[in-house]
Order: sequence, then C-alpha cells, then structure tokens
Amino acid sequence: ADQPAPPAFDNSYARLPDRFFARQEPSPVPAPRLIRVNRPLAAELGLDPAWLESADGVAMLAGNRFPDTAEPIALAYAGHQFGNFVPQLGDGRALLVGEVIDAAGHHRDIQLKGSGPTRFSRNGDGRAALGPVLREYIVSEAMAALGIPTARTLAAVLTGDPVYRETRLPGAIVTRVAASHVRIGTFQFFAVRRDVEALKTLADYVIERHYPALAGRDDRYLGLLEAVIAAQADLVARWMLVGFIHGVMNTDNMTISGETIDYGPCAFMDAYDPATVFSSIDVQGRYAYANQPRIAAWNLTRFAETLLPLLADDEDAAIAKAEGVLKGFQPVYQAAFHGGLRRKLGLLNEQEGDIQLIGDLLSLMAASRADFTLTFRGLSAEIGGQAGKGTTRESFVDLAAFDDWAGRWRTRLQSEDLDASREAMLSANPKYIPRNHHVEAAIKAAVENEDFGSFERMLAVTGKPFEEQPQMAAYALPPTEDERVFQTFC
Ligand code: AMP
Ligand code: MG
Ligand code: MG
Repeated sequence: ADQPAPPAFDNSYARLPDRFFARQEPSPVPAPRLIRVNRPLAAELGLDPAWLESADGVAMLAGNRFPDTAEPIALAYAGHQFGNFVPQLGDGRALLVGEVIDAAGHHRDIQLKGSGPTRFSRNGDGRAALGPVLREYIVSEAMAALGIPTARTLAAVLTGDPVYRETRLPGAIVTRVAASHVRIGTFQFFAVRRDVEALKTLADYVIERHYPALAGRDDRYLGLLEAVIAAQADLVARWMLVGFIHGVMNTDNMTISGETIDYGPCAFMDAYDPATVFSSIDVQGRYAYANQPRIAAWNLTRFAETLLPLLADDEDAAIAKAEGVLKGFQPVYQAAFHGGLRRKLGLLNEQEGDIQLIGDLLSLMAASRADFTLTFRGLSAEIGGQAGKGTTRESFVDLAAFDDWAGRWRTRLQSEDLDASREAMLSANPKYIPRNHHVEAAIKAAVENEDFGSFERMLAVTGKPFEEQPQMAAYALPPTEDERVFQTFC
C-alpha cells in the first residue's frame, strides 16, 4: 500500500503583507488523542484520511508539529462586539495552518481552534473546552447537510490538558475548514488604521479568491460590496428558514465568502418564538432569532464604511454609491426568505396572498409555541387531500383557527401539482436538526465519561436531515419540559 501522504499546502494568505497576520510557532499539548476525522470532507479536500489519523496527522491536528508546507499564522482583525467597536481582536485561540486546494480547485483554509495563545490572545488562554468543540462539529456539519453555506469541521482531538472555565474541563481542538477566514472585521482592522493600501490589497485578494468574476472591473469594489451583501442576505434567509440562531453575529464573525462561521453559543429553535435567544452572553437579546436579518444589514453597513476610500475619491460620492448598494439587502433577503417559505409550504407557483397565508401560519405557531421543525415536516407528510388534518394540528392551541388556516391552504394547493409540492416540502423541511437537548446530552456523556457514542449518533442522524431514519426517530422530538435547554455557552 502507498504511504499515507501529508497535505501539500499552498498558503496564499501568508504571502500577503506582514501586517495581515502574526507567524506562530506550535504550542505543544501533552497527550493528543484523536476523537474523530471527517473522512468524506478529507476526501473532498484532497487530504489523505489515513495520514490525518496517523501519528503525524494527529500531531498536526493537535498543533504539536506541522508538515513542511504549513505556514502557521494567526490572522489580524477588528470587530464590533455586541455593537461596540474593538480595533484589535485577531485569532486569539486559532491558527491558520495552511490552505489546501480542494476537488473544485478552490483554496480552503485549514484552521485549528483551541491551539494555544497567540499575539492576539489578550487575557485569554488560547484554548477550547471539549463541549464547544463537539457543538461546533455537530452543528457545522448539520448545517452543511442542510445545504447551508458553512465552515466545516475536519477533525476534533483531545489535548490531554484541562482548561479552566467555571469549572475544570477537558481541553480539545477543533479543525475548521473555511473558504477563507476573511471577515468584515478584517476590513475594519485596516479601515480604523486608515491603511488604504492594505484595504485595497485585501479587497483584491478576496475578489480573486471568492468573487473572481469581478476581477479587473473598474467598479470591482462596489461589485464586491454588492456580492457580499447578496451572499449574506441569502445566508441569513437560509438560517431563518431552518430556525438557526447564530448567537454572536459580531462583525468579526461574518465572513466575506458568505459562509456561516464561528459556532459558539448557537442553537436551533424548538418552539417557534421570534424572540428566542440561547446565548448566555446575549443578555439584551441583540442576536435573537428575528433580529438576525436586521443585524446582518447593520454589519454590512459597517463593511460598506470600510470600503468608502476605495469607492470614489470624493467621500460624498462614495457614500452615495455605498448607500445605493446597501438598499439591495432587503429585496435580496426578502426574495430568498419568501421563496424558501413558499417551498416549505409547497407553494411552487407564486400567487397573490401566499405571503399572507404563510404569515398567518407563523402567527398561529407563535401563539401555540408549536415546534418550528416538526410543524413544517408534519405538514409535508400530511399534504395529500388531508392537508392539515393529521396529528400536526394537535400542537395548535386554537384548533378552530388552525382548521380555518388549513382549509385556506388546501384550497390554495388545488392550483399546485401535489406530488411536486410534497417533494419540495420534504426536501425543504428537515426532520432532523441538532436539537439543543441532544447536543447537550452528547457533550455531557463525552465530558463526564469519555463516551462519544451519542456524539457519533448525532453526527449520523443530522448528516441526513431529510431522511426518515425510523430507528433514530427520538432525535426528531422536541425536548420535554425537563429536557429543555435555555442557555448555551461558548
Ligand atoms: P468569538 O466570540 O469566538 O468570535 O471570539 C472573539 C475574540 O475573542 C476573538 O478575537 C477570539 O480569538 C478571542 N478569544 C475567544 N476565546 C479566547 C480564548 N480562550 N483565548 C484567547 N482568545 C480568545
Ligand atoms: Mg469569532
Ligand atoms: Mg468563537
């Protein structure tokens, strides 16, 4: 057999000017132990899973020793955290090991999170606890399986060192894969320093890497703003359609590529309530479910501000251009959100009154605190001539109001091809999402007993979100009153 082959990195970011990052030596951990390698993702990245699982591979995943072609760097960035600007954040507990070229020919970052202190750590220890590492693995891979643009998880390892949060916890490192780690905060880092040359270098870099069709165009920086607005508007609409709550939508956690990144105190909503918040640190509810589109637009306005020096020589002219493009957020978001809601109810040909019909269902769901995922999945299964007459109706408090709504839906479906509608609904409405009480149970078993069985089962079940998987049906159920999880921690 062939010898396992180490990765061949091609590190475009490390070729940017020195002020974009800090080079970083490894901070070895005493007893690295592999939890898991994501083999299908490794294959997609052209990485040899056998090498990743070898002693050399685990040494890399633990941040102990890197292959020759790696150029480990911590990236510089700034950001608005809960609305307050911090001019220097940066990778305080993450390390970009290098970039690989994936099967589609795109550069993908291989980044360790929890790999030790860097120049940007401030008072932090640079480390991650096992629980959040497992949550990031489960939720990021579930998002990918749902078809939502996201950073991926390649591997998780235990370090053998404890980390101290409220209590002593096992330390771990997650290996994150992203189209890049350039974020709005990266642009803010240079904008606040009035480093226009760096801004231009960064903008040209992300155009080449993420939006190559814009390269060479005279209006490419305005085109970049427009493209990022469109990507983020579409992304947040997709979150809303599955009940995903990011939890920390700071500008340093919003990518230029349009991928979801930085899975901290994130969670999926069970009962439908637009004000839902899980994050323990989000006391004001700034990043509540229903606020996410508005926050995305606010963050994109901060992005536009960083680009002003590149949009026109005259500031007023630059502002006018940026404002024109920022107006595009709402229509793009609305088209994506409404289009998605239509598919969730099988309304494939557009008709007047559709959005009202959908809005009325959401109001009834909110009044009954109906489960967001199960309601839509249930309606998908019950669509035939029985639309809205199955067990789904039992989750509504006002049955007469629900029956009235279901009658309107049945009438509306008469102008659809029901088979096509059912198929659309069953592929838009997942049965399995990583429900928080199951995520917490998987974390608890791993942290307390080194039992990774539930973690593995969750990856298996949420990896096929639209399949029935009858033996796994318990994972589709919302929490009982006793099982409910109210807060998540990062
Ligand atoms: P986050 O809330 O995960 O987006 O992180 C915000 C900032 O805090 C980033 O600059 C992180 O690198 C930094 N940070 C978070 N946790 C730690 C830690 N344990 N040690 C050092 N820096 C950290
Ligand atoms: Mg972050
Ligand atoms: Mg984080």
